[in-house]
Amino acid sequence: MVLDTATLRIAFGLMALVLVVLFYFSAYRATRSPYSAWWCGALLFFLSGSGCFLLDGTPQQWWANPLGNTLLVHGGVAVWAGARSLRTVQPPKWAFTGIPLVTLVASLLDHPATNTWSGGPVFLAAMSLTVGLASRELWRLEPGYSRVRIPMAVAAGGLSAYYFFRWLAFLVEGPDGPVFVTVFGSAVTTMVTMVLLVVVSFSMAGLSTEQQTRALRVVATRDDLTGLLNRKAFLDLAAEQLADRTITGGSGALILADLDHFKVVNDTHGHAAGDLALQAFADACVATVRSTDLAGRYGGEEFVILVPGASAERAEPIAEEISSRLAGAAAPDGMEMPTVSYGISTYDGGTSDVDRLIAAADEALYRAKSLGRNRAARSDELH
Ligand code: GH3
Ligand code: MG
Ligand code: MG
Repeated sequence: MVLDTATLRIAFGLMALVLVVLFYFSAYRATRSPYSAWWCGALLFFLSGSGCFLLDGTPQQWWANPLGNTLLVHGGVAVWAGARSLRTVQPPKWAFTGIPLVTLVASLLDHPATNTWSGGPVFLAAMSLTVGLASRELWRLEPGYSRVRIPMAVAAGGLSAYYFFRWLAFLVEGPDGPVFVTVFGSAVTTMVTMVLLVVVSFSMAGLSTEQQTRALRVVATRDDLTGLLNRKAFLDLAAEQLADRTITGGSGALILADLDHFKVVNDTHGHAAGDLALQAFADACVATVRSTDLAGRYGGEEFVILVPGASAERAEPIAEEISSRLAGAAAPDGMEMPTVSYGISTYDGGTSDVDRLIAAADEALYRAKSLGRNRAARSDELH
């Protein structure tokens, strides 16, 4: 059975139109994410480009065929740009004008009035390149980003490979060769593209929502200056951990840290230098604790760390390690990083009150200060 390409193209056009409308309202209007804007644009390019090919075989073919190629390639560029926007990288300018322009010129020079495959090799190579670049971008997203990036990267990678083999077949045997017509012909391509557009649109709707949710979650839980948990997020998560007895038998340590003579740092080197020291302390914390520990900024120059499973003996070297990392951090000219005092309290299966833990650690911290600073004190030690 030979499928009629013109009919398929009309079906494709209708489907792309429905996708644009659905996608515009469900994803773009709701999230305004750059990603969904690019995808709407890409769908419109595919829709209009494919529409141009309906004029093949008419007197309009001489302009419609090159324009169709150019619009489809523009669609490929938009897919790439959308994938890049997930990393908030601007797409390179040359890609926008350069790749479609080369396609247009190649088509116009290749007898577009009589040749329905005008500029074929350039068009096929440009599609393979742009969609392949999009696939690469999606793979390169941080793995924690989302699971849907995988079907999307695979779909884009598959389409890129398909266009690559079409390009090879075209080069080897031309547009009338048996392999090119049966395996890589316009009818098959239209169907393959239809399936992929649905897969990608569906995944993308999920992704734009996720992009927005992630951004909001970061704003709500992180301290601006240091990137550590803010006070409220720390308290919420710590309470959750303490309530969950399955986490290392429900015992652990809490460390409260306060930078020493921090007011002097500000007064001597300025507030900006003080901010740098706070950031350096946060970096030292992050480099020292495990990813399952909680580190937060409790207030101005006070920090709090929850180390589930740790004893007081284990918590002390953690504090020492943070201090030595901070001492080794790069400081602005003439400035020395401040030292830090710590108060350590511990909990076991019996306690589940974060406030009491913090109060106990605060008392120990006060003792560390009065003993001369730059040290850790434990709430279970003799007073
Ligand atoms: P101590 O060793 O007893 O802790 O002395 P200290 O000077 O660190 O204690 P104090 O609590 O008197 O001073 C804390 C200082 O931290 C005062 C405040 O201006 C500064 N501070 C609080 N938040 C920030 C901030 O976000 N950036 C900067 N640069 N300084 C801050
Ligand atoms: Mg303080
Ligand atoms: Mg202080």
